[in-house]
Amino acid sequence: MALVERSLLGPGPSNAYPEATAGLAAPMLGHLDPEFLAMLDETGRRLRTVWGTENLRTLPLSGTGSIGMEAAFVNFVHPGDAVVVAVNGLFGERMCDVASRYGAEVVRVDHDWGQPVDIERVLAAHPAPAMVAAVHAETSTGVRSDIKQLGAALRERDERTLLIADCVTSIAGEQIDLDAWNVDIAYAGTQKCLGVPPGLAPFTVSERAWQSRVEKPTTWYLDLGLIGNYVTGGASGGRAYHHTAPTAMVASLHDALGRIVDEGMPAVAARHREAGEALQAGLQEMGLKLFAAEGHRLHQLTSVVVPEGVNSADVRKQLLNDYGIEIGGGAGQYANSVWRIGLMGNNARLDRVEMLLGALKRVLA
Ligand code: PLP
Repeated sequence: MALVERSLLGPGPSNAYPEATAGLAAPMLGHLDPEFLAMLDETGRRLRTVWGTENLRTLPLSGTGSIGMEAAFVNFVHPGDAVVVAVNGLFGERMCDVASRYGAEVVRVDHDWGQPVDIERVLAAHPAPAMVAAVHAETSTGVRSDIKQLGAALRERDERTLLIADCVTSIAGEQIDLDAWNVDIAYAGTQKCLGVPPGLAPFTVSERAWQSRVEKPTTWYLDLGLIGNYVTGGASGGRAYHHTAPTAMVASLHDALGRIVDEGMPAVAARHREAGEALQAGLQEMGLKLFAAEGHRLHQLTSVVVPEGVNSADVRKQLLNDYGIEIGGGAGQYANSVWRIGLMGNNARLDRVEMLLGALKRVLA
């Protein structure tokens, strides 16, 4: 098969960091090899740094970001629990679907797409829910919501409510401080700002959430109690086999995280901000309109309104065929009226911005 190279400037996957690619090619280790277990432990430590948490239970789950979402609900929803979900895009929608499958009484708080989560409305939706769930960076619209404010408001009102944050598109693309933000459960994906191929779902859970978990969830594969016996050791301290860990993917994540931690999260976040701001300024100079509400726009993912009279799919096709650049269409009802341009991980660089703007200008000319 021909080796085709693309610039992946859509909503993910992004082009991997060179360290992540090198990690994939390293000699394979067995999943119980002490060398591998040490690498897994270090991966957990690095995830804690990137996420701003001390949670002991911080680990990569086998599967893509949606596995993290499943694990967050299946391990913590007790049948009949009231779960408030802030819906301001596709992934909030998905949370409602997943939570309801595990027996939650879902209370939806719908927002217009393109707007951030309205904390007052989330609080007003239920006086004492078991959980509140929200997406930090809504990839479907390019909007950031204020998880810090949400966490503070919830903690002040009722200590018992758990906060779940979807960090699939925010992890390693901006500063996150889960512990300071009072987030109890968070999950992510590897294929966006972590700059690793798709295949793992970083996951973290606080001690207080752990205490209220479902003892025997309706899943075997995603039972965090069983997985924990392998990742962090069981009661006897031993590492019991649960399922065969995808060792090459863990090596890739480990090495990408090493690079991110070496660069430092503040510098990584600043790089994403600089690239995102340059892209958004350049697009507006071209006369294009941005879709997400001003003041709440992600730097790592920019949503653009497709101009009147322009065929969205034709432009994307031309970018791909003539320039090797992939950008995304919109999600849901905005499939043909919005483009999504990602500058994630290794692509959060000014040279990528210039390349995309140059190509887009030619295609739209
Ligand atoms: N949540 C958000 C915010 C996402 O952007 C995505 C994927 O794009 C997911 C969840 C689901 O992740 P995956 O497609 O890796 O299963």
